[in-house]
Amino acid sequence: MRGGWNNILLGFAKKAQPNLQIAGGYGQEWINKNLSGTQIDIGGFSGNCITFGSTVYLPENFENKTWNAPENSTLAMIIHELGHVLDNRSGGGNATWFGGGAGDALMNYVGGQSKYFIRWLKNSLSLPDDNMFKDNNGYGYGNNSPADYFAHTFASTILTPNNSNMPIMAMVWMEAMIDLTK
Ligand SMILES: [Zn+2]
Repeated sequence: MRGGWNNILLGFAKKAQPNLQIAGGYGQEWINKNLSGTQIDIGGFSGNCITFGSTVYLPENFENKTWNAPENSTLAMIIHELGHVLDNRSGGGNATWFGGGAGDALMNYVGGQSKYFIRWLKNSLSLPDDNMFKDNNGYGYGNNSPADYFAHTFASTILTPNNSNMPIMAMVWMEAMIDLTK
């Protein structure tokens, strides 16, 4: 495994645990159960953030490309990508691409619709106004696609719950999902 994944995981676990009241304080166990075996490959896929199955590809200088992450934070960016892994695993292994997983379930719950078959394409999600992310401080990217809505909700629920930039209905759904999968 390349790119210091252990440090990233440790950072995620430490940060998530105090906030992961939603999993009854079982942050580390939740990560082990739901995300173990995840690979992060830095610089491996033509400089893009992309997820296949349980592998996250990040660009070489990903720390400087956080404008699409909540609070423009590197940690939020990584947790967003882990959200894609979670989505992938919940539906056939690549739900971030083809739907059929938790990302679709959240989209349906908030009254959203995918414009295309592929779930991560640019500007591919229509949403009721009330359930959109506010286009502020990196949160607006959550409206980009069904997959990114799920991943942004995941990252924001863990790092900045009850933040006024995130749709509360989505946060409540995510808290329940995390709790039910602990
Ligand atoms: Zn994404």
